[in-house]
Amino acid sequence: MANDPRTDLREIAGTLRAYLEAQGELGLKHVDVRWPESPAMAPPATLTEVREELGECTRCKLHPHRTQIVFGVGNPKARLVFVGEAPGADEDAQGEPFVGRAGQLLTKIIQAMGMQREDVYICNILKCRPPNNRTPESDEILACSPFLLKQLQAIGPQFICALGGPAAQTLLQTKEAISRLRGKFYDFHGIPLLPTYHPAFLLRNPHEKKTVWEDMKLLLREMRRARPNVGAGAGTNIVTETPGPSGRGSR
Ligand code: URA
Repeated sequence: MANDPRTDLREIAGTLRAYLEAQGELGLKHVDVRWPESPAMAPPATLTEVREELGECTRCKLHPHRTQIVFGVGNPKARLVFVGEAPGADEDAQGEPFVGRAGQLLTKIIQAMGMQREDVYICNILKCRPPNNRTPESDEILACSPFLLKQLQAIGPQFICALGGPAAQTLLQTKEAISRLRGKFYDFHGIPLLPTYHPAFLLRNPHEKKTVWEDMKLLLREMRRARPNVGAGAGTNIVTETPGPSGRGSR
């Protein structure tokens, strides 16, 4: 006979609690983030659908602290997605990621790469501000990361740039320090992912700006290699876009 669904749910909740407690005891700072399976042949949800599914989220303990959810911003078909850590005070107030001092530096980096914020997509591991901007905790990442993964599936970027340790460690499922992870590409479900330092770290350590610029040049080289003659943006107006053989733009 089929189990009572309430029994099943209690078992799932118990397993999850034990898993998170075990992670805590082991001192693990990350949780397993799985790429959501789409039912056979079903296209991934759109960003609008993902936002609707998220709703006025109360799935983790951050929700009472937030002013608003910071979902993500930019081109819904961006070739490049930047993933940061979590909203700070400015982002929580404005509802947009990376709009404070670190965000202004990220905007400058994007512009130095020959793009605008509107060409890329910008989001975070968490969609709600942690109190006092503390590091995301594993239960918060567990609750929030399915939505990040669905956003990434909806966008289908060619490249991902993880900004800082928590973003890189969450997406790559590692505890390795960002100083060791940065500057190399990793495979994220078939998408090349490049970790680099977080812009907030650069505000505290300006001498590392040149390191991030080296990483961004590497990213640009790969983006150009993947699509020669097209700028790094979504194929709009970024660098040079030469007409393809059909006489139309290559996008
Ligand atoms: N830092 C982040 O990681 N994300 C933001 O949106 C702002 C600052």
